[in-house]
Amino acid sequence: MAILLALGLLQVTLIKPYFRDQRVNSIELIASEITDDLLGKDKLSTADIEDTFNMILNNDMCAIIFNDNGRVIYKEDALGATCTFDKFTTIDDESFIPLVEPTKIIETVKDGNILNTSIISDVSDQEMVLYGQKIEGDLANYYLFINSPVEPIESYIELFTDQYYLIAFAVFVAAIGISFFLSDRITSPIVKIKKEADKLSSGNYDVDFTIDSYSEINDLANTLDKTSQVMATTDELRQDLIANVSHDIKTPLTMIKAYSEMIRDISGDDKEKRDKHLNVIIEEADYLDRLVDDMRDVSKLQAGQQTLKRTNFDMKETIERIIEHYRGGILKDMSITIETELVSSVVWADETAISRVISNFLSNAIKYSFADSKILVKMTDSEDHLRVEVIDDGKGISESELPYIWTRYYKIDKGFSRNINSTGLGLAIAKAILEAHGAKYGVISKVNVGSTFWFELSKDYDGLSKGN
Ligand code: ADP
Repeated sequence: MAILLALGLLQVTLIKPYFRDQRVNSIELIASEITDDLLGKDKLSTADIEDTFNMILNNDMCAIIFNDNGRVIYKEDALGATCTFDKFTTIDDESFIPLVEPTKIIETVKDGNILNTSIISDVSDQEMVLYGQKIEGDLANYYLFINSPVEPIESYIELFTDQYYLIAFAVFVAAIGISFFLSDRITSPIVKIKKEADKLSSGNYDVDFTIDSYSEINDLANTLDKTSQVMATTDELRQDLIANVSHDIKTPLTMIKAYSEMIRDISGDDKEKRDKHLNVIIEEADYLDRLVDDMRDVSKLQAGQQTLKRTNFDMKETIERIIEHYRGGILKDMSITIETELVSSVVWADETAISRVISNFLSNAIKYSFADSKILVKMTDSEDHLRVEVIDDGKGISESELPYIWTRYYKIDKGFSRNINSTGLGLAIAKAILEAHGAKYGVISKVNVGSTFWFELSKDYDGLSKGN
């Protein structure tokens, strides 16, 4: 509407000056033609300027030429009653233009100035251009006056106005139609998305954002769909987390309390029993300590607060040291064996952090293997990366659980079967460390066949060569 209004106003305000300019232009053209015809002649024959004056007839003008004595030497009139010059003036009259304020106008032209003014016709009440010019010939001077209405204006404005109303109406109707169509196309999917989002905000994850709309809204709907799935998973994980953490903290506390009471009431004086009970308390306290450390580490790593301390170290030596530690410790009383296929290779990484990842893969392989299982730690060295694999033939992980095992506090066994070595944080820490190193990592696993946890450290150290 605003554009239409502006257009209408512009049309009405610009059209008048435009027509006036047009009129003045054609008057000036004719005046210069007449000047050419007159120059160098003292007497003007009708034939000389007949062609030029035909232009006057064709252009809705009236013109009159006087000589120095005020005698009319030529006159042409296509206007009739509206011509401002005296209609009774005829050629050879010596009346010298009976005009509005004639003296002033004549003086202006006589002084050699070009007269270009607007007057209102008494007869038609229309704006008329009055043009006057002195033509200085070698033998005589002439005074040319041309008078013409800025005439087509009113009828044109009327035509334009009619057309304008018609077009404005058509545009208005079309705009309303298009707006309804567009707003329906834009708003109805948004309304649907909003309804689903409302459900989501009230904790109902059973939502469906699928819509058939234009691509941006489809993209938004897809993003929201994914978000709602992530939210649903996060919510489930949060509930797991609370259950796991409270369980993980509660159980050792219960044990610590129970064994403390036992020492107080029963085994206090029996050194052997008391030491056994005290060891349980120490183990449980260690577990709590480890749990809290792991929780803090995973938060720090995931928040990016822990910076890597990269050095060059031989991965083979590091892996052998870790395996030795296991063989001399936890594996002493187990029939699980660890085999290795290692090659010597120096990497640029945070040794403590990478050791932690390998140690976690290894302790998981031990935890989730059967008696007499074999674990293989394999290293392959290629041009651009070093790959470490920890392969077990244990319980394996089902396909549906695989995507979640890297999430913190995620334990497949939700039955709270107690494993003093399991905090559910190991893989989350490994993931954060590997991501901080820009390493690729993953797991291949099949239930009751076994799992292969692997990672690959790139040898492209952004310009830091191995030797540095
Ligand atoms: P946890 O302290 O429970 O071992 P992790 O984050 O290290 O926590 O592992 C998450 C879960 O992934 C484990 O609870 C276990 O169910 C599964 N998992 C990890 N490694 C293995 C493996 N080698 N074999 C079978 N399951 C595994």
